[in-house]
Amino acid sequence: MVTENKTLVVIFGGSGDLAHRKLYPALFQLYLKGSLNKHFAVIGTARRPWTHEFFREGVIENLSDGTLEQRQAFAEHFYYQSHDVQDSEHYVALKNVIDKLDDKYQIGGNRLFYMAMAPSLFGTIAEHLRSEHLLSHDGYNRLIIEKPFGHDYESALALNNAIVNTFDEDQVFRIDHYLGKEMVQNIPCIRFANPFLNAVWNRDYIDNIQITLAESLGVEERGGYYETSGALRDMVQNHIMQIVAMLAFPRPEKYDDRAINQAKSQVFASLPVYTPEQVRTKFVRGQYGEDASGKQAAYRNEDKIEADSTVETFVAGEIDLDMPQWQGVPFYVRTGKRLPAKKTRIDVVFKADQSELFTEQPANPVLTIDVEPDLGVEFTLNGKEIGTSSLIKVDQLQYLLDEEQQKKVPDAYERLLLEAMLGKQGNFAQWEGMTGSWHFVDAIRKAWSQEKDVDFPNYQSGTMGPKAADELLSKTGRHWIYQG
Ligand code: NAD
Repeated sequence: MVTENKTLVVIFGGSGDLAHRKLYPALFQLYLKGSLNKHFAVIGTARRPWTHEFFREGVIENLSDGTLEQRQAFAEHFYYQSHDVQDSEHYVALKNVIDKLDDKYQIGGNRLFYMAMAPSLFGTIAEHLRSEHLLSHDGYNRLIIEKPFGHDYESALALNNAIVNTFDEDQVFRIDHYLGKEMVQNIPCIRFANPFLNAVWNRDYIDNIQITLAESLGVEERGGYYETSGALRDMVQNHIMQIVAMLAFPRPEKYDDRAINQAKSQVFASLPVYTPEQVRTKFVRGQYGEDASGKQAAYRNEDKIEADSTVETFVAGEIDLDMPQWQGVPFYVRTGKRLPAKKTRIDVVFKADQSELFTEQPANPVLTIDVEPDLGVEFTLNGKEIGTSSLIKVDQLQYLLDEEQQKKVPDAYERLLLEAMLGKQGNFAQWEGMTGSWHFVDAIRKAWSQEKDVDFPNYQSGTMGPKAADELLSKTGRHWIYQG
């Protein structure tokens, strides 16, 4: 039995790409499933003078499932308000619309404010929501914000300070869409619901953990943004760090949002701040050149990219957590553009049997969590050759979701919007965690900024990144389990 959520969603940046491609389809899925029904309204705001009808047509165009009647009935709940976020007067008009719709749909004062626009405008919106009395006194007031949350610790702190006057931390929902992915949300269950895994999830049995977030696309039309970001800030500070935390947090007392967030914050607090020398030995950066055929352009020849850009499109590194249970266990992370295929996966590499029980050395057992495009779990184990031989052979157990099962997996935005409506904060980035991950990333950036000779491009499009990424592991006798 699905319970209806009464809510009024105000989307700042309602005419934008994120709203149309992700948010409206996600809300529609919630509507089709009954999580949204009669008592909801969505107000899209942006500067352009659109009519409600024009806005609704644009919303419908981006919906694919359901019948035409369902799409139209859903879009009837959408309203457009021309609004410049820097103009105080406009908030007065917006408040009138909010009050009217709250009344019309009997919403009871529940408000979700979604900032689908440049972070530089978050502060002024939050400030005006308070000063112009757009917050309700009956239901909840929640703020949903998008990445990038700052470009370093200082700017993230300034951004946070700009919203804390209006919203408490438990009213702030910072989207990290990797936390909305099925198999990322599955990590605590895999770890803690299987006592045989729970028992060995530590430095005594795990040799290293590998996280790969590979993209096959290049920078595409996001050149302007990417030049100010790079892979470290775009992927490591947020998505990869959240996955590290999901894998490393200590077993909580309770399986609830608060306990999990508290446990995760222990991981963020234990992130190292590397010296420039440590950065040189533990982190590798790269930038793609053209592909073997010369058809795909090098990063430096892409649109809106400086001809001598030193922005990294690839990062690989080793994270050593300062936690007793993880002493000596490197978390190897890797992300890059123009790699052979789009792939997100986690490989937990267990220690190999070191005894002399067998005549040959057994392999390291590996637990693989496939996050995308496949979803599932694989186990690579030692077995015996068939027959009378006692030689060891490596077997693989595999459980991957089939097409039908994959269809049932909610999109990350659908899931996270619902969780925000329910007030569940477990799958959102917390400020405390951000502090640790920004300090970690800032130290690497600082060290890189002091390096003079950057030899880019240093990997060919369509390959798994620069050689140095392999050497990072091979120097300790290890290798990347996922080879592309
Ligand atoms: P966009 O440029 O397509 O949309 C921005 C929106 O903000 C537009 O509706 C625009 O009219 C509105 N806007 C800008 N200035 C305004 C002002 N002064 N007053 C009122 N409205 C104003 O951008 P987007 O791709 O939708 O991204 C929005 C935010 O979400 C960005 O911070 C982006 O980094 C982040 N984000 C986007 C995606 C994505 O898939 N597009 C994914 C992750 C994060």
